[in-house]
Amino acid sequence: MSSAGLQLRDVTVEFDGKRAVDAVTLEIPAGEVFALIGPSGSGKSSLLRAIAGLEPCTGDIRWDDESVLKIPVHRRGFVLMFQDGQLFPHLDVAGNVGYSLKVSGHRDPARVEQLLALVGLAGFGARRVTELSGGEQQRVALARSLAATPRLLLLDEPLSSIDRELRERLAGDLHDILHDAGVTTIVVTHDHEEAAVIADRIGILEAGRLVQVGSLTELRAHPVDDRVARFLS
Ligand code: ADP
Ligand code: MG
Repeated sequence: MSSAGLQLRDVTVEFDGKRAVDAVTLEIPAGEVFALIGPSGSGKSSLLRAIAGLEPCTGDIRWDDESVLKIPVHRRGFVLMFQDGQLFPHLDVAGNVGYSLKVSGHRDPARVEQLLALVGLAGFGARRVTELSGGEQQRVALARSLAATPRLLLLDEPLSSIDRELRERLAGDLHDILHDAGVTTIVVTHDHEEAAVIADRIGILEAGRLVQVGSLTELRAHPVDDRVARFLS
């Protein structure tokens, strides 16, 4: 059976003989926004890094039914965005967003402005990134990630450095931005309410194992075990 999008088959990541990610099998159809949740140390970051190609793994990672394991990291078309966004402080907002466009030889001011509008920062191009709030900086980082037109966007706790009230609003914005952009996404968070706002489906990792996948309502109604029930309460 062939399918468009991401397929993980028995993906396993080991550190010193210990499994940080334990035989994860999962399909994410093209265009879906999928949230990965689980307690600290459950393997969320390790799984994202393996998919991005930054961590060796066994099993298979496929896109459109073709293994990407032998494809170099920068050719996979996958972009991993870290918690703090890591903007370039010496560049203005437009310079940060346009960075990957410039690298790929397609720097285009209209495209930069379009991306800024998508993340709710129209007209911010000439601002210094050091003068932006934490939430605004995260939006710039997101626009920069989207500028690379990734076929898969990997977001590792994108809102965790932002204070609670703003985070709730940004979660809703993130849902809209990702769905408007139509980009296949895996977003890691340790907050299940946030996951439910951003994503279509949620997967729960426990000690490296993907124990359950569904909507928050489904997971709450039929948790596979007590730990999932407690985690979601
Ligand atoms: P999460 O992102 O869910 O908090 P991680 O993927 O960071 O979890 O970590 C999963 C497990 O793998 C933890 O036990 C962690 O200590 C271990 N681990 C992560 N990265 C490394 C590393 N580079 N070397 C050794 N152990 C690691
Ligand atoms: Mg992590």
